[in-house]
Amino acid sequence: MKESLPRIVPPGLPPARHTASRLPVGDPRSPAPHRASGRPDAGPSARFIGWNIIRTARFSPRNQEGREMATTKKFQDLLLAELSDVYSAETQIAEALPKLAQKVSASELRRLLEEHLQETKGQIARLDKAFAALGAKPEAKTCKAMQGLVAEADELLSAGLAPEVLDAALIAAAQKVEHYEIASYGSLKAYADACGLDAVADLMDETLREEKATDEKLTAVATSTLNASAVQASVG
Ligand code: FE
Ligand code: FE
Ligand code: FE
Repeated sequence: MKESLPRIVPPGLPPARHTASRLPVGDPRSPAPHRASGRPDAGPSARFIGWNIIRTARFSPRNQEGREMATTKKFQDLLLAELSDVYSAETQIAEALPKLAQKVSASELRRLLEEHLQETKGQIARLDKAFAALGAKPEAKTCKAMQGLVAEADELLSAGLAPEVLDAALIAAAQKVEHYEIASYGSLKAYADACGLDAVADLMDETLREEKATDEKLTAVATSTLNASAVQASVG
C-alpha cells in the first residue's frame, strides 16, 4: 500500500494541531515549537526542524500554495534522507554484531547481542516496508556516525582488555549505538506523524520500542553483574 505523499496540512493531523495553526502568531495558546510533533518521544531535531518548516509554510503571507508545495518537497526529502541514513546504520550494525558477540565472554551478554541481531534484521525489513509505502528506495549513502561507533567498538577488541572489562566496554559501545538509533527512529516517527503518514509512523514506533528495550536490557546486564565482575577482575 502506497501512502500519499506528505502534505503540510494533511487531513490526518490531530485536531489540536489544526486549531493551533489558526491561532494568531504569538498567541499564548499556540504550542511551543518543540511540542509540534505532539509525541513525547520525538527527537529534538524532529521537533525543531519539523516545526520550523511547517510553521514557515503555514504563516507565509503570499503565494501560500506555491510555498507549501516547495516546503512539502523539502520535508519529504528530509524524511527520506533520514530513512536512508538509518538504513545504512542498521546494515552496518547487522554486519558488526556477529563479530562483537563472538568476542564477548559473558553468556547473557552474548545472547542479548545475538537476539538483537535477529531484531536488527527485522528492523531492516521494516525499513524496506517504509520505503515501499512511500514509493521510494534507500539512497546510496553511508551513516558516518555508525561507521565511527563501529570503529570505536572495533578498537576495544584490540585494546588488550581483560575479558570482564571488555564485556563492560562493549556494553557501553552497544548502548551508544542504541542511543543513536533511538534518536533516529524518534525523529523519523515524529516526521511521519507530522506528515500524516500513519503506516510509516507505526513502523518507526515498533523499531523505536525494540531499541529502547535493548538499551534497558544492556543497562540491566551491566549493573546487575558485569560491571561488578569488571571491577573484580581489575583488582584481582
Ligand atoms: Fe536497530
Ligand atoms: Fe547517520
Ligand atoms: Fe539496535
